[in-house]
Formats: sequence, structure tokens, C-alpha cells
Amino acid sequence: MMDRKKIGSAGMRLPSVDRILRSDAADPLVRMYGRNEVTEAVRRSLHVMREEMLAGEVIDSGEAQVLGAAADILERGSMPSLRRVINLTGTVIHTNLGRAMLPDEAIAAVADVARGASNLEYDLDAGGRGDRDRHLEDALLRLTGAAAATVVNNNAAAVMLVLNTLALGGEVPVSRGELVEIGGSFRIPEIMNRSGCTLIEVGTTNRTHIKDFRNALSPETSLVMKVHASNYVITGFTAEVPEKEIAALCHANDRPFVIDLGAGSLIDLTRYGLPHEATPMDALQAGADLVTFSADKLLGGPQAGVIIGRKDLVDRLKANPMKRALRCDKMTIAALGAVLRLYSDPDRLRERLPTLRILTRDAEEIEVMARSLLTSFSSRFHEIAEVSVVACESIIGSGALPARTLPSAAIALRPLNSGNGGGSVLARIRASFAALPTPVIGRIHDSAFLLDLRCLEDARELADLVMTLRIAA
Ligand SMILES: *Cc1c(COP(=O)(O)O)cnc(C)c1O
Repeated sequence: MMDRKKIGSAGMRLPSVDRILRSDAADPLVRMYGRNEVTEAVRRSLHVMREEMLAGEVIDSGEAQVLGAAADILERGSMPSLRRVINLTGTVIHTNLGRAMLPDEAIAAVADVARGASNLEYDLDAGGRGDRDRHLEDALLRLTGAAAATVVNNNAAAVMLVLNTLALGGEVPVSRGELVEIGGSFRIPEIMNRSGCTLIEVGTTNRTHIKDFRNALSPETSLVMKVHASNYVITGFTAEVPEKEIAALCHANDRPFVIDLGAGSLIDLTRYGLPHEATPMDALQAGADLVTFSADKLLGGPQAGVIIGRKDLVDRLKANPMKRALRCDKMTIAALGAVLRLYSDPDRLRERLPTLRILTRDAEEIEVMARSLLTSFSSRFHEIAEVSVVACESIIGSGALPARTLPSAAIALRPLNSGNGGGSVLARIRASFAALPTPVIGRIHDSAFLLDLRCLEDARELADLVMTLRIAA
């Protein structure tokens, strides 16, 4: 063991914790973070400096340096874990990056109910207890034409609630082509199992016929479910039974037909030049008795799962004690309410709903934005990477419209020493963007770091961030 005191006396001069805390320069830090936190940060800074000195490094160890290091520690430690990032991955509705961006109207509505009391479950007219679904039901019925609606925490919860309420202990036939996994932990067979019902696999992966469903029906059948092909496509020699035929079969046998729609856009997207995506209204028209869909996918709202359909069935869902465990909080209801109000004016929806605005941005406009940023990037990446604007394809994400991409433009950073070291330079570029005060998330493709600008609305902010970029040597 080395004798620290002896080394210290041989020229090491570190100020004491007390002396640093008593200095005027410490006051602003103490005001911002509190005495305990600052004391701990100063201790840690002194410890690091002591180690560096023991390792033989010559460092500046004055009070100002210790406080500077402590301030860095405090700043890093006070950053919230969940923070805003800039999504330049090219996937618009990105589950890992929080899915839909809320419109200002929804953010204001959330802030309003979050700040104080609200009439969440209070009937202002009658002066008594009310139902929290009431705040969303009218709008949902008006927009979809359904007879009843309820809302839960997300679409996975919606599917679970439907199965647990209507199919507990019973059988649920589903086409083999639809036994899907969505985003890692939502697997139809497992959800069925956990909801207390037995999955009956129908048909084959690529072809399912109405006779397969007919054969699957038994006295134990509780309902028939269809899962919308959301994050994959089956092509080639395929056959899918039209929803109308399954509905007719179900109704002839007095069984509910449930469609898990997944993305569920509330308007016909072809009106905005986007590919057609099945709507909840289409599903009802085809004869579904209940339809479930996410509120934070194409709908462009907060995380929630919407269930619409027959009133007697929705009433049973509401009476299930599980509903209480799966219900939405007031902030979600406020946000979804505000988003649904925007839908009542489809002509202005595109400018007001960020998801729709971003999905419908044309490639030319995105390319112009990319070119306007070239100088900022080129000067920052001088001698590190070649900077160019390239055409690329954005994807909608969250399983919506899986086979379709949207033409877009990206800034491509191609490391100049592309030999063996190229891979690690790419990794460092990626890491440096992720380490920005507002992290910027791109993707690595074809030995380049790509920033698809489809989701970028503030080019100035990105230019400013790039100026502060620190790329590790
Ligand atoms: C996304 C999706 C789900 C899960 O919805 P969450 O809102 O993420 O819980 C379920 N089913 C389908 C078909 C989906 O696309």
C-alpha cells in the first residue's frame, strides 16, 4: 500500500471539502442543488483528482477546478432519465421513442388537468359521481359511428380486457396467419393464455378459408378474433377470409366477432395521399362487434387503447373489475379528448396533428431542409466524415401500413477512414449525437450514419446542436 499522506506532503495540495463549501463561489451551486448534493459532488471531485495525482498526472487542483468538476457531476446527475430526443431514425411512429407527438392543444389540456382538481369522475350537472369514459365516449361515437366506446391504458390492455371479459374459460379461434408478435412482449398466443382463454389455431400461415373457421366453432367458442396484419405482410400464395364472411358466420352462431385493428386511423388516409389503412369504421361496417386500436399510433394521440362497438358488450367490459386496473389516468383522457376534438375539423387536421403533418411532408421539402443544414454539418465533420444529402425511405412505424415507405431525405455521414476503423468511427459518431443535451437519434445504414429529416421541424435547433457536438477521439 502506498502511503497517501507521504505522497500528499510531497507536493499535493488539494483544498479541503470545508474550505470549498465555505467559498463564495460555491454559493450558486448550493442554492441550485442543496448543500448535501454539493458536498457529495465536491467529495467525488476531490477523490478523482487525488487518484489522478497518485497516477502521476499534473493537474490544476485549485478551488475553481474542484467546483467546476463538482458542477459537471451535479448537472449530469440532475438530468431526468426520461427526456426529449430528436427522432431522425426515419421511423415516424417509433415505439422506442415514445410514438406519436402530441399537438399543442393536447399538451395544454394535460397541463390544465394535471395542475389541480378536475371533474374526472364528477358529474357537474347532477352533482354526483360520474364515469371517466364519459369525457371521450361522445367524441368516439360521433367519429366512428359506434354504439358504445371505452378506453384503457393501451391496445394490449384493450385486447386483454375483451378476452378476459368475453372469453374467460372459453375458446377463441384465430387464423394461423395472425398469431403475431408485436414489439417483443405482445404475442397473441400469450395474451390469450394470460387472459384466461384457449387459442384455437385456424387454417395455415399463408391460407385460411371460411370452412376452417366453421370447423373451429364449438360449443366452447366464446368469440372469434381477427388480428390486423400490422408489422408484417404475407405475400405469394395467400388467402384471407373477408371480414364480412367471418362476421356472418359468427352472427349465425350467435358469437361476437372482434377485430384487433392495431393502428386504427380515424380518417381515410388516402385523402392525404397516404396508402389506405383500415379504419375502425371499416371494421364496424364489415360486421365486427368490437374493434380495438391504439390511440398513439396513426391516431396521433397519447398512449391508450380504444374499444368501440356493441353497447351490451362494452357494458360488460366496463363491469369487469379488470377495467379498473387497466383504466387511463386523467392526463391521458385530457390529451385524447383534445386530439379527438381536432378530428372534428378534418380540413385543418393536417396542419394541427403532428403525426399527420409529418407523414404527409413531401420529400422535396425535406431535401431543401437537409441542404440548408449541409454547411453546419460539413464544418463540424471536416476531416472526420464526408457529408452529403441522400434520398431515403421513411417508414410509418408501429406496424401501420407495413409494406409502404415514404420517400424522404437524409443527411449521410460517411467516415473518411472507412477501412477497419470505419466501424468504430461510425459508432463514435452515433454516440456523440446521443450524448447531446437534446439527444439526436439516427441510424447506421450501409457504412453511413443517416439522419432522416422527415421528423425534424426545427432545423435551427439541429444546427445549433451540431455546433456543440463532441466526437470522442
Ligand atoms: C400495436 C398493436 C397492439 C398493441 O398495442 P399497444 O397500444 O402498443 O398496446 C396490438 N395489436 C396490434 C395488431 C397492434 O398493431
